[in-house]
Amino acid sequence: MQKKGADKILPSEPALRIIMRRLREIMAEPSDGQSRLDKIVRQIAGLMVAEVCSIYLKRQDGSLELFATEGLNPAAVHNTLLKRGEGLVGRCAELAVPINEPDAQNHPAFAYRPETGEEIYHSFLAVPVLRGGDVLGVLTVQNRTQKEYSDEDVEVMQTTAMVLAEHLVSGSVAGVNSGAELSRAVGHVIRGQPLSDGLALGHAVLHDMRVVVTEFKAEDPEAEASRLETAVEELKASIDEMLEQGDLNMAGEHREVFEAYRMFAHDRGWLRRMKEAIRRGMTAEAAVERVQNDTRSRMLRQADAYWHERLKDLDALSDRLLRVLSGGMRAPVAVADLPHDTVLVARSMGPADLLDYDRTRLRGLVLEDSGGQSHVAIVARALGIPAVGNARGVVDRVDQGNPIIVDAGSGEVHIRPSSGVIAAYGEKARFQARRHRKYRTLRDKPAVTKDGQRIELHLNAGLEVDVSQLKDSGADGIGLFRTELQFMVSATLPRLERQTQIYRTVVDRAAGKPVVFRTLDVGGDKALPYLRQPEEENPALGWRAIRLSLDRPGLLRTQVRALLRATAGQELRLLLPMVTTVGEVDMSRAVVERELTLMRRRGSPDPTKVLLGAMIEVPALLYDLDALCPRVDFLSVGSNDLLQYLFAADRNNNRVAGRYDPLSPAPLRALTVIVDAARRHNRPLSLCGEMAGHPLEAMALIGLGYRSISMAPASVGPVKSMVLSLDVAALERWLQPAIQSGEGNLRARLKRFAEEQAVEI
Ligand code: PEP
Ligand code: MG
Repeated sequence: MQKKGADKILPSEPALRIIMRRLREIMAEPSDGQSRLDKIVRQIAGLMVAEVCSIYLKRQDGSLELFATEGLNPAAVHNTLLKRGEGLVGRCAELAVPINEPDAQNHPAFAYRPETGEEIYHSFLAVPVLRGGDVLGVLTVQNRTQKEYSDEDVEVMQTTAMVLAEHLVSGSVAGVNSGAELSRAVGHVIRGQPLSDGLALGHAVLHDMRVVVTEFKAEDPEAEASRLETAVEELKASIDEMLEQGDLNMAGEHREVFEAYRMFAHDRGWLRRMKEAIRRGMTAEAAVERVQNDTRSRMLRQADAYWHERLKDLDALSDRLLRVLSGGMRAPVAVADLPHDTVLVARSMGPADLLDYDRTRLRGLVLEDSGGQSHVAIVARALGIPAVGNARGVVDRVDQGNPIIVDAGSGEVHIRPSSGVIAAYGEKARFQARRHRKYRTLRDKPAVTKDGQRIELHLNAGLEVDVSQLKDSGADGIGLFRTELQFMVSATLPRLERQTQIYRTVVDRAAGKPVVFRTLDVGGDKALPYLRQPEEENPALGWRAIRLSLDRPGLLRTQVRALLRATAGQELRLLLPMVTTVGEVDMSRAVVERELTLMRRRGSPDPTKVLLGAMIEVPALLYDLDALCPRVDFLSVGSNDLLQYLFAADRNNNRVAGRYDPLSPAPLRALTVIVDAARRHNRPLSLCGEMAGHPLEAMALIGLGYRSISMAPASVGPVKSMVLSLDVAALERWLQPAIQSGEGNLRARLKRFAEEQAVEI
């Protein structure tokens, strides 16, 4: 190995370059994983002029297994195991830092393993094999003579370990003798929050894909340094620009994140460390990744949550910098490159991003930051894609192309699962497929209970594509068309013509089945990128839905006009979100009347009938139902919002969102009050919150008197199956006394009732 003088720049270049080339060749040769590892250690030993080179890989229990060696006793391979933290190798893995010892034998941490025959070697260099902050294993070299390895030696070994890590996670060296151990060693289970039910087995595609560094060694360090400088300047400018725009997207936490990016981007230490790596002969990209890896392992050793948060910023910033260096801020994934069983993995994602992907190839979605009521979750549900949110750390743990299982029932995400886990989930998936086949056979059966009560099952939709599910699911109509989804996925405000065209397509595709169009429910958590909204302290209680529409009459008028045009010659059902007072209904009706009059005056064809409905989402309205009912043509309970306001528990805040049970006496009484009022005033009533889509909750609603409910397409089958096996009269006799009994939450008792009555839930 060549040694460098203090002022020379790339004396070790040949060794590193040759190692890189040989690694590439080894990976390209047809061979099994073990032979590849054997060849790798042989090559590294030769080029590092070391008598020993070994690879230890981490097992699931944190111990390190000798996987390949040149120089130690070959019989020790797969037999030598070091406990977590044991010996110098264990210490290297624990601390995630290189260990360079001229006299390892006499080091207090040295762990003697007679089977390896390593007592004759004195100098010892170990580097961690790091990937995304995880230590996958340790790469070592040893020599008989006592010597301290040079900085270049450490550098070469670290860069080699980086490349080795890529190959380990890509699976090209898996399948070695203890392949199962290896895959378990680098596999993970992350527990997140179910966003959209279902099960997906597939391969990971990273949204906002991390640029994979393939060139590590540079020919011209000066050119690399100047590429890096230009890229950092570009990065800084783009962050400054975003901060200076100061639009509504940059409010609150968003702004804080970008401020943190700016802080990092202007950190001279960061740039200096990357430049040093370049001076040692790396490409700009490899330098970014190296410094990211080093900083990560340092930060991860800090117990303080603050540093873990900063780590996210650093990662995001490094990823951005890599994208700038590779010439595009975001490289969209070409459809042809998507696996047929794509599981998208992202830190966070807007609904529009999700729709960029080819649906036919999407099997699942895993998000690090998004909760159940986020819009991307709504879109995932609409598309029927199993999704898990709040999957902390998933982006760091997954690599492009990794096998991955999304169990959106439990919220578990299995990354690089073992063959046993794959087999178990494969069985589960086949069971679900059988169940779905059963649901399909129910598709054309009307939802009638055992005692002859017809229950209308409708769909919640919001995108043109959703409407096709009407036929596939056998639902009775669209009980809630969330018009804002179209606005949210659009880059600019959809104008009258575009809106008319969308609504017309929806009505046409519904082919005579009723559609309830809800007027824009934006504001609060549903931000439109092109609509300026003030920052609010309590967005859920703020300027949203009908409040915003009435204050922006231009917006409401255009939408009403588009809906009237799109439903010419048919009935229009128009639903108002977040009604708090009856006055809001009167004002909205006046807008509709005015548009109708204008339309008729112009001689344009108008709808045969306009039915105006109110959503019951605000508790105040529960106490004014006798005033409300005569003013509207129908009622629809938005239980998602109604429950969040009744419980005073933010539906988007995971700490409290699932804390209170809808199947407890207070909400069930509130829901009964609405049924009673609708009956008194002879007004059609429906419920379109998430609870309608869960068979047990839907059963309770039917027991309360609801005869029409609206849900996500995937829920229609299971809910219909429940309806067909239910005797409503028995449930009604049982339910009200149970609510009044004072025994609290009814969930367990409802389950028991279903079991005893053989109701399919
Ligand atoms: C609800 O609040 O229950 C509802 C259906 O409306 P959204 O989920 O769109 O707020
Ligand atoms: Mg709502």
